[in-house]
Amino acid sequence: MTTAPTVVMLDIDGVLNDDQTTVHAIGRHYIGIDPHHVAHLQRLLDRLGSPVVVLSSTWRQRPGLAAAVEELELRGLHGHPIADVTGERRRKMSDYRPLRHLEIADYCEAHGIDRSRVLILDDMPIEGWADRQVFCDDRIGADGRGGLTAGHVVEALRLCGMEP
Ligand SMILES: [Mg+2]
Repeated sequence: MTTAPTVVMLDIDGVLNDDQTTVHAIGRHYIGIDPHHVAHLQRLLDRLGSPVVVLSSTWRQRPGLAAAVEELELRGLHGHPIADVTGERRRKMSDYRPLRHLEIADYCEAHGIDRSRVLILDDMPIEGWADRQVFCDDRIGADGRGGLTAGHVVEALRLCGMEP
């Protein structure tokens, strides 16, 4: 029997960086991906085995997938390539309200992914997906940092039916 892999919907800002992050994205002025949080992500993905990692972050548009992959590797993520990105939904050009919940649902529908396989790492509540999300809000973890914490890794493993 084979078990279908977990599909990790990965956000970056607020998950892999926080207000204490000092690294900047390569060649850019905005905040980058923080090795501190990448270490937590690496541990989670290693425990999940061979999850399918899908970029749901706005990084997929700017600076784009290639830059996100480069930055993730540079900041310490190994052995877990980004498999794909979610599509983009927008109401109209002037409307930037988040539609990530629909983008994730679209992706799952297009790829025949059952929601029970989905793990969302995001610092924005994803409407309708609370049961599949580890919410990386502004709470400060035991290590004194926001973003993805050791506590979130425990939460994520439990959500995926694994012993932390
Ligand atoms: Mg975010």
